Amino acid sequence: MQNSGLDEKYERAASVICKQGIIPFPVNNITIGIIKEVVEDNKDELDLIWAFRDKPSQTLEELKNSSGLTEDKIEELTASLAKKGLLFNQPSSAGIMVYRILPLMTVGLMEYRFMGKLKGDEKEKRLAHLFQDLITQMRDQVQKNYDAFVPLLKQMPPIDRTVPLRKTEDGKPIRIISVDRQIETPTEVILASQSIEEIIDKFDEIAVGHCFCRQRRSVLGHSCSLGAPTENCFTFGKSARHTVAQGFARMVSKEEALEIMKQAEEAGLVHKAFHPNSKISRPETSICNCCKDCCDTLRLWREGAFPLVNATNYLSIIDQDICVGCGECVDRCPTDAIVLNDEGKAERDENACFGCGICARFCPEEAISLQEGPRKVFVLPPRLRTS
Ligand code: SF4
Ligand code: SF4
Repeated sequence: MQNSGLDEKYERAASVICKQGIIPFPVNNITIGIIKEVVEDNKDELDLIWAFRDKPSQTLEELKNSSGLTEDKIEELTASLAKKGLLFNQPSSAGIMVYRILPLMTVGLMEYRFMGKLKGDEKEKRLAHLFQDLITQMRDQVQKNYDAFVPLLKQMPPIDRTVPLRKTEDGKPIRIISVDRQIETPTEVILASQSIEEIIDKFDEIAVGHCFCRQRRSVLGHSCSLGAPTENCFTFGKSARHTVAQGFARMVSKEEALEIMKQAEEAGLVHKAFHPNSKISRPETSICNCCKDCCDTLRLWREGAFPLVNATNYLSIIDQDICVGCGECVDRCPTDAIVLNDEGKAERDENACFGCGICARFCPEEAISLQEGPRKVFVLPPRLRTS
């Protein structure tokens, strides 16, 4: 192992990192280029990454066996990789330290590298461009093999869960329509918190960092068309401890967290909660406040790279007798689920509505309500090419 060339070490490290997470990536110039920017030729770090090849999460004892390194060396290297956004190192609920190698994205290196305060240096720019190249390559692959990808994409679990806005711009409660569906509702859906207040209330450790999507796009030279604030990317519990320890976020009180959430709602952002392994019966690990313009999951879908896969408990209902056809909801809907019909009335596509409540919040006529009921939203990416 010691005699392996640097290129080989990068290739091996990339082979480990590229197979983590929900999106497997090929080992190629782009993925190796990303790892080169981050690891900066530290051969020991590359060897430690290779030690995760058979098991992505390991205890210290397991890592000593798989790497052949001493405890001190492992602690030094894991601390460094965690700071670089490539490793998660927090104790389990049983108090045992667990080291987990992270994927390139969703959720991993890309998110952590761009959720801290931007440095404005050349490395940051190169990384932003490399991730953009990776996304473009992913889109091209999906488009080239669209029919073959469809069955695989359809098996995907929801990546995130929408937590709806609850108030109109005037501060009035958005009307909620309860539905007795007479069907068995999965337990996991019943347990998921349906309001921001409820989620904030259940965590003692809450950290806020910057939106990695808006920040990465700003490094690429795009400014958010909503002019949305960036410091509203939340992590909770163990994830909060991790992001703060690595300098990606700062701890906030419940009061400050609620104030930031309120500002996000005023800016027209969507609350999206993330759960471990997409299991929404488990406590939230993080909440993004997403804008229609920059959010990676929305862009990946709109640009043909990835499906829209989301869990929600709400569906917007438009009262066309009240609608005056102003088009506000059409412009604001993050999933383009609303159009004005031939009569100039707003019409919503149920498949694409993930129940965020943005339309209801900003409708000047209060013509929109939210109907309760658990749903998985799945919309294939648009087909852009035929070959
Ligand atoms: S915002 Fe309200 S009034 Fe305007 S088009 Fe949408 S539903 Fe109709
Ligand atoms: S129609 Fe659009 S804005 Fe309204 S709740 Fe559904 S996804 Fe959100």
